[in-house]
Amino acid sequence: MKTLLSKNLGFCFGVKEAIKKTIEFSKKHESTYILGELIHNSHIVEELKKYNIFTLETPYEKLKSNIDDLIHSNKDFGLVFTAHGHEQKLEQYIKEKNIDYIDATCPYINKIHERFFKYNLNPTDVFYIGDKNHIESIINLKLFKFKNLTSSKKYREINFFNNEKITFINQSTYKIDGLKEYLLRVCPTLNFEIMDNFCPSVNNKYREVKLASLEQACDYIIVITDSKSSNGNQLFNYSIFCFGKDNVFKISDKNELPSIFPKLDKNKTVFVTSATSMDDKTINDILELLRNY
Ligand code: SF4
Repeated sequence: MKTLLSKNLGFCFGVKEAIKKTIEFSKKHESTYILGELIHNSHIVEELKKYNIFTLETPYEKLKSNIDDLIHSNKDFGLVFTAHGHEQKLEQYIKEKNIDYIDATCPYINKIHERFFKYNLNPTDVFYIGDKNHIESIINLKLFKFKNLTSSKKYREINFFNNEKITFINQSTYKIDGLKEYLLRVCPTLNFEIMDNFCPSVNNKYREVKLASLEQACDYIIVITDSKSSNGNQLFNYSIFCFGKDNVFKISDKNELPSIFPKLDKNKTVFVTSATSMDDKTINDILELLRNY
């Protein structure tokens, strides 16, 4: 089957860096514990166990008690903050306990946080557009105390008229195209500002999907992603918007491919893209099966 590939398949720079740093750091300790999923990719979470790197998959609020348990175990261990950011309060606690740690926060997320600190926003005047269950949003809401959270689907239902000035902020994987035009049309007197934090690495993937549907005239699209990846799920939704729901398939592993084959016409062209946390091995296994189809 004719297969066209995204030029940006696989890890983004933030994910690559987080994995490299964590493996390097793990050499210093008997065991290393990541404070949440380093990235959303269950293959990588498993792979890291070979280096004695384990993931504390508890809710963010429980991390402190997990750390206490590790202290009481008397093991030699180090800790890693994930690519999504963290609270200074938790870092302070780790320092007080003299635990060795590294911060694998993505440089792009750090840049967003610097911007939020610099602008010293009034939390009640901010509308945060993102997924309330995603770790990046959980941390942003804790760090900056933003009061209003909405998903990109729901912001159109909000009555903004009670606020004097509103700042809109989005999760790094949430595209908010069309927000400005919408606000100017629906509430032309509203005083607002948009701080668009959409990650350029994710944006490149969106551009390619659009191109594949229009100029490259691809018929289908396969999005390789872990079900927990926010950018992978958003990319899947955007692909449906560009290709129509019957022509878009989401998979996380080569074993899921055979169930899709009966829906693909061999004489047509498929475009393959992936989440920013998807590893080369998983992608190559899928591509090999697909090319031989
Ligand atoms: S998707 Fe963007 S923000 Fe997220 S880890 Fe990758 S580079 Fe950083």
